[in-house]
Amino acid sequence: MDLSLDGARTQAIPACTVNGRTYSAPRRPTAVICYDGCDPAYVAAARAAGVVPHLVRMMDEGFAATALAAMPTFTNPNNVSIVCGAPPSVHGISGNYYFDAATGREIMMLDAEGMRTGTILAGLSGIGVRVAAVTAKDKLLKALAKDLDGIAFSAERADAATQEGNGIEDATRLVGRPTPAPYHPDLSLFVLDAGVKLVTEGKVDVAYLSLSDLIQHAHAPGTAEANAFMKAVDDRVGALLAAGATVGIVADHGMNDMADDAGAARVAYLADTIDAAFGAGRVRVICPITDPFVRHHGALGGFVRVHVTDPALPVADVLGTVAGTEGVGEAMTGADAAARFDLPPEREGDVVAIAAPGFALGAHRADHDLSALAGTRLRSHGGLAEQAVPFILSHPLNEAYRAKASGPLRNYDIFDFALNGVI
Ligand code: ZN
Ligand code: ZN
Repeated sequence: MDLSLDGARTQAIPACTVNGRTYSAPRRPTAVICYDGCDPAYVAAARAAGVVPHLVRMMDEGFAATALAAMPTFTNPNNVSIVCGAPPSVHGISGNYYFDAATGREIMMLDAEGMRTGTILAGLSGIGVRVAAVTAKDKLLKALAKDLDGIAFSAERADAATQEGNGIEDATRLVGRPTPAPYHPDLSLFVLDAGVKLVTEGKVDVAYLSLSDLIQHAHAPGTAEANAFMKAVDDRVGALLAAGATVGIVADHGMNDMADDAGAARVAYLADTIDAAFGAGRVRVICPITDPFVRHHGALGGFVRVHVTDPALPVADVLGTVAGTEGVGEAMTGADAAARFDLPPEREGDVVAIAAPGFALGAHRADHDLSALAGTRLRSHGGLAEQAVPFILSHPLNEAYRAKASGPLRNYDIFDFALNGVI
C-alpha cells in the first residue's frame, strides 16, 4: 500500500529500478517499437502523403518530439541502450564489432562477454509483468532476452522458437504465417503482427518490438516503397491503439544518402589513406557497422575506429591525417570520443572518425563489397548526421514528464516515458 500526495490510500503500483531509473508496471498494455532506421524524414514524408493516419493521431493527440540516438548510430548499441535505458558507457555495447588488441581479432560485441548490465525488460519480468521481446534480427535476441523471464524470439527464426528457450512454441503459429524470407521487409511486419497478437490477445503487458532497416537502406523518404512500408507499419500501430495500448515509437538511428550525383557511393577509405601516408600494416581500421545480416550497405557507415597497431607510429600523426581526409566530418582520439558520447573507453580505437554528411567511411576499398548495392544509391548511418530520431507516444504526458520533455531527449528514454510519463 502506498500513500498518494493527497493522502488517499491507493494500490501500490509495482516498480523496478534498472540502471538507476525506476520503471512502473504499466496500467495498460504497452508496446515500444524500435523503428529501425526510421529517420524523421520518413515520418514527415509519409504524413504529407496521408498514409500514416495512426502515427498522425499519436503525434497530434499524444506526444511527438525528436530525440537523439546513442553514438555510434548503429543498430546494436541503440537497441541495447533502449532496453537498458542507458548509454553504451553503462552497458558496454558500442558497436557491432570491436578490435581486441590482445589477440588482433575482430569480435562481435554481443558474442563476447556481452552486456554489463540488466535490461528494463528483465527488471519488469522480475516484478511479475508479462513481457515479450520480438526482434527481426536473431543477432539481437540474446541481448534483448538477457535474464528475461518471458517471451523472446526473432522473426528470422520464428519457427524454431521453443517454450523452454523462447517462452513460446513455434511463433509462426502465433502470427499465422511462415517464417519470413531473409532480407525481406516482412521480417519487420512479422514482428509487429506478433506484437499485435500478443497485446490484443492479452498475452503480455509489455512488448518490445524491434524492426529491421532493410527498406530504409534501399529507399529514400517519400518513395513509393518507403511510404508503402510506412503504411504497413501504421496499420499495425492502429491495431495496437485499437486494443487500448500505450504505444511508444522510437528509432535506433536515422538514415542518409551517401552517394554522389551519378549515384556512386561517396566513401573515404581510411585504411588506404593511412597506408599511403605511413606505409601499410601499421593500423587496423574497424567498421563497427559490419554485420553478417545486412549486406546492402557494404559495411559502410558513418563511424569508424582506427587502432594504431605499430607503437612507433604516433597517434597524433594518424589523427591529423584522418582529420584532413575528405569525407571525414570530425576526428578525435578514442578517449575524447568516449567522454563526449558516453562510450566505454576500453573499446574505443586510438582515433575515431565520424563521416561528414553525405559520406561513408570504410577501411580498405578491397574490404568492402559494393556489388550488393546492385546499382542502388548507398544509404547508411553511424555518424552524427543520423542521430535525430522520432520519439512518439500515443498518450499525452503527465505534468512531470512534460517538464522532463522540455530538456534533451534520448531514444533510450522511451521506456521511462511510456511507463512513467503518460496520462
Ligand atoms: Zn538499425
Ligand atoms: Zn542499418
